[in-house]
Amino acid sequence: MSGIADKVVAITGASSGIGEATALLLASRGAKVVVGARRADRLKVLVARITAAGGEAVFTAVDVKRREDLVGLVTFACETFGRLDVLVNNAGISRISRFDDLRVEDWDEMIDVNFRGVLYGIAAALPVFRRQGSGHVVNIISTAGLKIVPLQGVYAATKNAVRTISEALRQEAGSSLRVTGISPGFVRTDLADSITDATVKSAIAERMERMAIPPEAIARAVAFAIEQPADVDVGDIVVRPTAQD
Ligand code: NDP
Repeated sequence: MSGIADKVVAITGASSGIGEATALLLASRGAKVVVGARRADRLKVLVARITAAGGEAVFTAVDVKRREDLVGLVTFACETFGRLDVLVNNAGISRISRFDDLRVEDWDEMIDVNFRGVLYGIAAALPVFRRQGSGHVVNIISTAGLKIVPLQGVYAATKNAVRTISEALRQEAGSSLRVTGISPGFVRTDLADSITDATVKSAIAERMERMAIPPEAIARAVAFAIEQPADVDVGDIVVRPTAQD
């Protein structure tokens, strides 16, 4: 199956930002969208918005730290729409800080959400993709893993862990599965809200305000990867603000 129309796409972290924008764009292009995140109230509003515009979408509460929630998301997609064509592993947090601050709980949380959560998504979708003989994993990574800077060490490490497994999965996948990694630069979303260091949080928020691009810019990259013919596997896409250093 080529294109976007009628593909069943599950998206984690779709209650705001890039995930939400991706759900809206793909649904407007005819995809059947299954959205997951912890804030079910926001997902409900998103699904209502998509449905009101003539699209197809359903939601379920997902905490990507729980493996069974990812299995639930994939199962829900298959039960509702009969199959799963694409899993967008988008849920993520950015609790950046200096190593000296020893915010070890934030390090653990980033590893659990940004890396383990992606692994759980792959573990849930892969058997379904193998059974169907087709499937597409899209991982939302980050330019933080491409240009390593102070304060972002652990965040960048979780993102580069995803970059690493994406390439290994691509090589193991064979001719029937596609694996795409998309690395956004500064995007205007709620991501900075989860930073626990107040000074760092306001500095990032200021930078975001100054140069960030809208989440729709990343949604378009996701759509580009999905809409390619089945024998075209888009590997890595980097989308950053022109003004980003
Ligand atoms: P947002 O904070 O707007 O969105 C993050 C999403 O992840 C929310 O929907 C949130 O939903 C979800 N999420 C967080 N923790 C969990 C969890 N445990 N289980 C399920 N969902 C969770 O930020 P963005 O849209 O910017 O972030 C999306 C992705 O893009 C992330 O992976 C981020 O690292 C990446 N990215 C963002 C950049 C930026 O500048 N904004 C730059 C580079 C990469 P809920 O709280 O309802 O669970």
